[in-house]
Amino acid sequence: MSLIVQKFGGSSVKDAEHVFNVAGIITDTYKAGNQVIVVVSAQGDTTDDLIAKAKEINPSPSKREMDMLLSTGEQISISLLAMAIEKLGFPVVSLTGWQVGMHTDSNYSAARIRKIEQERVQKELDKKNIVIVAGFQGINRYDDITTLGRGGSDTSAVALAAALHADLCEIYTDVDGVYTTDPRIVPNASKLEEITFDEMLELASLGANVLHNRSVEMGKKYNVNICVRSSLTKAPGTIVKEVVDMEKMLVRGVAKDSDVARISICGIADTPGKAFKIFSLLAKKNINVDIILQSIGRDNMKDISFTTPEDRLEEALQILEENKAVLDYQSLDYTKDVSKVSIVGAGMVSNPGVAAKMFEALYEAQINIHMIATSEIKVSVLIDAGCETKAVRAIHDKFELG
Ligand code: ADP
Ligand code: ASP
Ligand code: MG
Repeated sequence: MSLIVQKFGGSSVKDAEHVFNVAGIITDTYKAGNQVIVVVSAQGDTTDDLIAKAKEINPSPSKREMDMLLSTGEQISISLLAMAIEKLGFPVVSLTGWQVGMHTDSNYSAARIRKIEQERVQKELDKKNIVIVAGFQGINRYDDITTLGRGGSDTSAVALAAALHADLCEIYTDVDGVYTTDPRIVPNASKLEEITFDEMLELASLGANVLHNRSVEMGKKYNVNICVRSSLTKAPGTIVKEVVDMEKMLVRGVAKDSDVARISICGIADTPGKAFKIFSLLAKKNINVDIILQSIGRDNMKDISFTTPEDRLEEALQILEENKAVLDYQSLDYTKDVSKVSIVGAGMVSNPGVAAKMFEALYEAQINIHMIATSEIKVSVLIDAGCETKAVRAIHDKFELG
């Protein structure tokens, strides 16, 4: 007997027919003699619809109340899925994040899981129940509901698999695995049999939303192998694991992210400590900064540019404006009209020329690069918004990933 965690995304449970399809997958797994924990997301576009509803009432609601609202989407799916399984004649119980004891910090809308209690889930498994858990939600130390960030149900699933020492964690979605790039943008993208945690973490963080990046982080930390597969076909899927059997590929995948804003701080004194001051102010407010570029000093002045997620732009600008006197800069320049395109691959560390090949693809497509960032396993470029799909296709073709 194995313990299997199965997670189903919103598109997999979008209506009654899909709910019964998922119920079939779960009960087949249970019938085969396994214990099954299921994590489920809100149906279809429910989360987006709830966000729109909130905005009708208050354009800038508190994050606490947003989490209270958004967590209801998952509560609908767990009960409906449990009802479908009851109808098929199997023992089942649905549980919210707080019933499970999914403890998080208090960073509403992007909470991190701190601890998962095992008692309740274990008790239900011992009673031979199929256990359905609401993804994406947790509870903080004030007993308030938190959410883990968009796409966070993947993280709920991997965290439960880690806490309960599951034998397998399956993420069922609307594609049959992880591809060299989003198959909806590049139809000839190839499915990967396997990918390492590190590569998947980069791809997910750089915009490949097939997995929530923190689920991959958690899989790596607790060594939970993750299988990404389709809820609509029986195709084998992609395994995310520590070591892959395939030779290190130069470029494993291409990702794009349109949720990017660029801020430039112009005319800062070319003295030690400026970068420290700027980025510690932003870090205090949990603002994620990605690509950073500093110009060389000229006339004792320099410029520092960096990117943030779009929804943190206003806050970042406000912090910089409030601290203008301390930071002592001349002006701020910013835009949301940028996108990030990245290549990821563990093989690039030992192969010079990979970045040049990417830049050649962009040149041939006549796409201008604004900023560049590299690490051992990735190269990212910042380009004009609207060019990202063309860029992904050009780079994907150049590296012959199709
Ligand atoms: P779910 O609702 O099941 O969580 P998501 O929409 O979050 O599903 O993730 C699945 C989507 O991720 C796919 O429909 C696909 O368009 C997108 N995607 C982006 N990059 C990739 C990639 N490299 N491989 C597979 N899918 C990708
Ligand atoms: N329902 C949440 C969202 O749409 C969480 C998830 O789907 O994983 O982001
Ligand atoms: Mg998702």
